[in-house]
Amino acid sequence: MHKPEAATPLLPEDQTLCEAVLAGERRALAKAITLVESSRADHRSRANALLRALLPHTGRSLRIGISGVPGVGKSTFIEALGVWLVEQGKRLAVLAVDPSSSISGGSILGDKTRMELLAARPEAFIRPSPSAGSLGGVAEKTREAMLLSEAAGFDVVLVETVGVGQSETTVAGMVDMFILLQLPNAGDDLQAIKKGIVEVADFILINKADLNPQAASFACAQWKSALKMLRTLSPNWAPPVLTVSAAKKEGLEAFWKEVLRFHATLEASGEFEAKRKAQATRWMWNLIEAGLRQRFCEHPAVKAALSNLTASVESGHTSPSAAAHQLLGYMQHV
Ligand code: GDP
Repeated sequence: MHKPEAATPLLPEDQTLCEAVLAGERRALAKAITLVESSRADHRSRANALLRALLPHTGRSLRIGISGVPGVGKSTFIEALGVWLVEQGKRLAVLAVDPSSSISGGSILGDKTRMELLAARPEAFIRPSPSAGSLGGVAEKTREAMLLSEAAGFDVVLVETVGVGQSETTVAGMVDMFILLQLPNAGDDLQAIKKGIVEVADFILINKADLNPQAASFACAQWKSALKMLRTLSPNWAPPVLTVSAAKKEGLEAFWKEVLRFHATLEASGEFEAKRKAQATRWMWNLIEAGLRQRFCEHPAVKAALSNLTASVESGHTSPSAAAHQLLGYMQHV
């Protein structure tokens, strides 16, 4: 039988790292994230020990996801909002989920040199997307980076993503609120509706309102009527549609007021806590499923039989259910 992994204690050097993360040191946070991003087995057990030690100090940040097509103004908006929040006395961490970086080697979101003004502020921490692994792998690391950022005392954790694969729904599944940035142009709106992204959005922001204020308010009205026809996530929250200009730093305060109203509303109804609990257990099951699949594929008897059985299913000689039954049967003899 597979022996359960014994809980590894924190190494003395990681104890120091743990304390530095708790003290809010950005360099320590960066180092801790590098540790959780590593795929080396010894790093993984050190990372698990570190996460275990830091877990009681997590959960106090507001977790916000933000998405939109390349060019919509995500980094401009995050930088403007981030600097504004820092000026309000907040500490902000910006993380990213960009599966394009692992697929193509190039990243749509670019690296951290993008938000230079924000990066220069000691109250802000910016981390690009992990560059290795599938979307699931990248998302897993980002979720852990989010927990580490919370332990480091950041008030707000922003997770940025682009519309690649399922990245939006994945990010929506790890944050408290999900924001969709849009251009004042109907074509994009329809695309987002088609892809089902709108259903996971708690806010719609029409950016670049400075370019054509009339078009922006028209888009705003269109969105509002389109949203009326969609099912909302919460019975207590109708996603607001706001116009902003990231470049001119307009609409930031009004937006933040809505964020706080969202938080207060969902906290009062109990949905805030319930959502986090559901996300945590879903995350656990995702990891269990991924782990089981990996163990299954690595099982010697499965490895020996898999390709023949696959061919036999393809040619119609074996039924999918008989093949699955046979392969799963091997797992009982470990
Ligand atoms: P991202 O790809 O979504 O991160 O988009 P960027 O933040 O890099 O912005 C793309 C381009 O749009 C840049 O040239 C920005 O300067 C510009 N931009 C972003 N926000 C605004 C805005 O509110 N108004 C105007 N006029 N331009 C903007």
